[in-house]
Order: sequence, then structure tokens, then C-alpha cells
Amino acid sequence: MIPETMSAGVMVEPRKIVVREVKTPLIGDDDVLIKVKYCGICGTDIHIYNGVYSLDKLPLIPGHEFVGTIAAAGKNVRGWQIGETVTADINLSCGSCIYCLQNKPLLCSSMSQIGIHQNGAFAEYVAAPARALFRLNPETPKEKLTLIEPVSCCVRTFRSSGISFAKSVVVVGGGSMGILLVQMAKLVGAAPVIMAARRRQTLDTALASGADHAVLLGEGDIDEVKKLTGGMGSDYVIEAVGRRDTYEKSCEMLGPGGRLVVFGIMEAGEKTPFEFYRTVLLEQSMTGSCAGAGSDFYEAARLVEYNRFDLSRYSETILPLENIAEGFDRAVNDKSALKVIIDLEKIKGAAE
Ligand SMILES: [Zn+2]
Ligand SMILES: [Zn+2]
Repeated sequence: MIPETMSAGVMVEPRKIVVREVKTPLIGDDDVLIKVKYCGICGTDIHIYNGVYSLDKLPLIPGHEFVGTIAAAGKNVRGWQIGETVTADINLSCGSCIYCLQNKPLLCSSMSQIGIHQNGAFAEYVAAPARALFRLNPETPKEKLTLIEPVSCCVRTFRSSGISFAKSVVVVGGGSMGILLVQMAKLVGAAPVIMAARRRQTLDTALASGADHAVLLGEGDIDEVKKLTGGMGSDYVIEAVGRRDTYEKSCEMLGPGGRLVVFGIMEAGEKTPFEFYRTVLLEQSMTGSCAGAGSDFYEAARLVEYNRFDLSRYSETILPLENIAEGFDRAVNDKSALKVIIDLEKIKGAAE
């Protein structure tokens, strides 16, 4: 039996997330109810926490990096069994507009994202349309499966920017996504793969995750990147920080024919100077990419299930729902935690 109420982490105002007893979501005929096991705290959740995103949606249950099992299904749902391990494409688009038809659901003007525009998975249960589900291998450790959404972002970014084998790639910024992007670059055979970051500890993590070189951001960093890329600058630079100064550096690290991958999210309205002279003379280009959608989730699931990423460092911090406020605080302030995961089956209890 599905209980009428459930425990959930509710963002009531910026910088305030509390555990509350709320109504269990009701599902429509085409939806399923998922019993959540784990949900990871993402950079997007931090933006919601800081009042940058979804301010008009509060109070909101955030959480979109989830894995769980099907607990109930609407009467039109076919092909899914209660108890199956699943995640869902969080981008619920209309499916029929010109962008959806071109497999660009993120551009759909009527899109609603689970955990961003509507209630998400920092709760015992989350609702999702059956058409958005992805079936997962129940043998794979579930904490790894929470990384499918972030990996789907890497999948889409690499496809849209065309990064392929033997191309040089600089990843600027070694947060949770930066380290995944380094691993993705290695996976597609990019060479060399260079991490550029502000902290030595981050560079060590990147090297341990497969980066060929690590460059400390600061004096001489651009020259160092040039030296590592035959004096030319890199074929691709992925900015994964979202700051004006790191975008400026990223542009300068880019070589002839290079492509800037705009991944890090700056605040809306914030601008950065761009030397288009170089873009023209060096035939450079730019691709924006922010999330995974549709088949990116399928591909991300395969990569995670077949251990194509080393995700061991991403499950070092797992907290029960009761400690979600601490979890957000650590995700914001503790740079040593690559990822904070909330355990939704462990409602009460001490931090692990
Ligand atoms: Zn995410
Ligand atoms: Zn659409």
C-alpha cells in the first residue's frame, strides 16, 4: 500500500530546506510512482538553494538525480512491472513542437523539469510519466545509478560539440561535473586531456581520474596549456565553472579551429568580453550545452552500468533525509565532497 503522506525535503525559501510530512504525489493514468532510494545534490539544486533558479516555484521538493523502484503505475501504463529499478529523463517536454521533433527537447517552450519546475526526488516517492522511464540493472550499486543524470549531461555535451579521438581537450573547473567531463574525454579517446583548476587537490583528483596533465589556474596557465598542445592552444576547451574570469581564460586557451564548449552557468544577464577577432581569424566556434535529455539517459545508463566511469569518489558522502540541510551546506561549502547523496530509505538516523 502506498501511504497517503511521505517525508520530503522541502525548499521553503532560499537557503532553507526542511524535512516535512507532505502528501504522497497522486499519479495520472500514464504515470508511475517511484519509491526513491537515492538522490544526489546537483549544481542546479545549489542554484535553487541560492535563489538563482525556481524562486517562483517555492515551496518545492528539489532533486532530479534519482534512482528508485516502481511502486505504482497508472492504468494506461504498459510494459513496466512494480519493483523494477528505474530512473527518469527529468525533462518533460511536449514531444510535438518543432524542437522536440528535432530531438532538442531542452528548447521546448513548454518543458517542465522534475525537481526544478515541479516536485522532485528528495522525498520517499516521486511521480514521473512512464514514457520518461529508463530501466536499470538492479545489480548495479544504486549509488552509482544516481550519477546517470550528470553523465547524461556529459553525453549530450560531447555529442553536440563533436569531441572525438585524438583531439586535445581542456576542462576548466574540477567540480563534480569537471571530473566527469575529464573521464568522458578519456572515454572518447581525446588526447591530451588537461584539467585546469584553482586548487591542487582538484588537480590531483583529475589526474587520478585519468587526466593526462593538470594546470593550476593562475599566472602562466595559458602558456602552460599552449606548451601541452604543441604551442597552438587546445582543440576544445570546456568551461565548467561559470565565471567571467574562467570564461576569459578558456577563450585564450583555445587554438586555431578550436571550439569553446559553454557548460558552466553564469548568472543570467552577466556578460563577459569576447575577442571575436580571434574567432574569425582562427576559425573558432562555440557550443552551449547544459543538460542531458532523451536518449542521452539511455546511453549514460549503459556507461554507468558497464563501469566506464570511476564513480567511487562520488559516493563517499551519503546522508539520511533527516540531514538534508547539512547535505546542502556541505554541497555548497565543502569542496572535498565531489557529490552529496541523500538516502531516502533512511529517513532517520545519524550521518554515515
Ligand atoms: Zn543534475
Ligand atoms: Zn516541445
